[in-house]
Amino acid sequence: MFDRNQTTPSISCIMPAYNEARGLVSVTERVLAALNALSPKVEIIIVNDGSRDDTSAVARQLCALHPQVRLVDLSRNFGKEAALTAGLDAALGDVAILMDSDGQHPVSLLAEMLQEWRQGSDVVYAVRRSREDQSRLHKRLANLFYSLVNFGNPVKIPAGAGDFRLLDRKVVHALNSLPERHRFMKGLYAWVGFPSKAIDYLPLDRESGQSSFRLGGALRLGVTGLLAFSSAPLRAVGLLGLLLSMLSLGYATWVVIEYFWLGISVPGHATLVVSLMLLSGVQLTAIGLLAEYVARIYDEVKQRPNYLVAENRGQGLREDKTPA
Ligand code: UDP
Ligand code: MG
Repeated sequence: MFDRNQTTPSISCIMPAYNEARGLVSVTERVLAALNALSPKVEIIIVNDGSRDDTSAVARQLCALHPQVRLVDLSRNFGKEAALTAGLDAALGDVAILMDSDGQHPVSLLAEMLQEWRQGSDVVYAVRRSREDQSRLHKRLANLFYSLVNFGNPVKIPAGAGDFRLLDRKVVHALNSLPERHRFMKGLYAWVGFPSKAIDYLPLDRESGQSSFRLGGALRLGVTGLLAFSSAPLRAVGLLGLLLSMLSLGYATWVVIEYFWLGISVPGHATLVVSLMLLSGVQLTAIGLLAEYVARIYDEVKQRPNYLVAENRGQGLREDKTPA
């Protein structure tokens, strides 16, 4: 059998970049130096996710300077999940490493990741040791998200594990074969399985610029993850309906008893208004929740691609010598 201890794999490092022009050169060169120390056959795939700054131009210069650097230039901003998907589709290495292009993921971890791969793990994922860089609310919401999405789910998404990870070719194939549109990568990694190993790390400061996933962005991603990986919200609404029906049945029985046995005729105006409002509120919320799922089904059936590539540049591990 193919012995991982004896081989040096070719490595594709995928770096999604959105408005990272200022830090891109130093981050890419740092990553490249670290990769070169690990294997003679490496490529860095910068996926420019429709940046509004000079990321594309900077990446082109990097391609011209280093034959190992490739650029996948998306036609517009499709979001990080789609950018990672584009990178994974383009990757040619025996292993793929996903890494942010803002310098927050320490390159010192790469050797350790490869070592774990050699020892048999198909997925080596980095877990952030702290969330000190995030607000208390953000941390609370992140914890809430993981308990909700993992509640009653046979596939558990590890808390704090991000996109910084090494994937064996097998896993890359598996991920590329999943056709879904609303991609929540953290869920997909967990869903495909394979022997996995966690290693922890402390995220560094950004090279420059600011995060795209402050509270709003993180919330949106959280909702996508929750709806894509759990039907618990639907079940919760069903249970709520059942509970309310039982309560109102109980109340109806009580009203009948009051009227016939105790001789009290209940005026009931307030009760009527309150229960009407409560019930229509619950119903509208349930319909809204259903609508969220339906909208996502609609997006799935349209079968639009997850991203569009405007241009492919650079050599990397590509065989054909099409000029860059
Ligand atoms: N990113 C991307 N498309 C987007 C937003 C972000 O490709 O629409 C990239 C970004 O350039 C960075 C990585 O995803 O390399 C992580 O983004 P960011 O640093 O903003 O998020 P955080 O580190 O706070 O999670
Ligand atoms: Mg970042």
